Amino acid sequence: MNQNINGNTKVLGLIGNPIEHTISPSIHNLLATKLNMNYVYVPFKVDEGMLDKAIEGARALDIQGLNVTVPYKEQVMDNLIEITPLAEQIGAVNTLKYTESGYVGYNTDAEGLNISLINNSIQLENSKIVIIGAGGAAKAVGMLCAREKCKKITIINRTVIKGEILANNIRQYYDVETEALGLDEIHKISPFDIAIQTTPIGMSPNVHDNPVKNDDFYKKFHIAVDLIYNPSKTKFLEEAERNGMKILNGFQMLFYQGVKAYEIWNDISIPEEILKEVMTDLINQYG
Ligand code: NAP
Repeated sequence: MNQNINGNTKVLGLIGNPIEHTISPSIHNLLATKLNMNYVYVPFKVDEGMLDKAIEGARALDIQGLNVTVPYKEQVMDNLIEITPLAEQIGAVNTLKYTESGYVGYNTDAEGLNISLINNSIQLENSKIVIIGAGGAAKAVGMLCAREKCKKITIINRTVIKGEILANNIRQYYDVETEALGLDEIHKISPFDIAIQTTPIGMSPNVHDNPVKNDDFYKKFHIAVDLIYNPSKTKFLEEAERNGMKILNGFQMLFYQGVKAYEIWNDISIPEEILKEVMTDLINQYG
């Protein structure tokens, strides 16, 4: 944490609601300390109906960069002067960079997940993927899987129409086989390779919840990824592990989406040794 806040300190932050449980300040303030940069990263809770004012205020206060979380990743796109092609394709923005004429929007969620999968030797190419959920995070996951040349994407969502819309969006950009099913149609799925859980079901404090209770499901694939990082092992991952699968939680995705945002804000590439140090400190802090 920056112990020397002074007149030159630049402010970065997170906007969303709720934001009380975020660990993004730890990631960014540790990065700033290790890189010896005079920054401070602060969470800002933005109430419903206040997003426009929050962005205007952030600009007026010269806030150099913002992360955006639930529920504003889509809505914030109306407040930006430019959106990168990847964020446009995903349809959601999680990083804003200050420029004199306004904020530019990026999406670093897909890249964060990509690095996390590569680090854990999980290969999307030629894999059959099942995505559980069709919200903002699922959009980034779906576009990433298609971009990395997966073989097939099945989207399972409570609201089937949202899964169908996402499947259609992916096919607008990529030539990949897609299908959409309801959570209650999970028994219809044929064997596949990787399940990526993108709903908030099972997140603290509701740690006993699991979006998929069908036992047969866990016999149909061999790698389970959950974007949730608190708890570090959700019921979904526990069940997958019990069935002998390789499992991965959302911690590294969170870390690397933050790293990518920090690099964008500062036009830098953070050395690998620093990333390792920060990651070790965070693991010691959060387990
Ligand atoms: P979102 O846009 O609100 O989408 C939520 C999704 O979950 C929707 O598909 C929704 O289904 C489904 N869902 C929610 N409650 C449900 C319930 N009770 N039963 C069945 N389905 C339910 O949220 P998001 O932005 O995609 O975020 C989702 C999760 O991903 C959160 O836990 C978030 O923390 C995590 N995440 C992690 C990272 C990371 O870096 N690790 C990054 C981004 C997000 P309907 O369409 O039917 O409503």
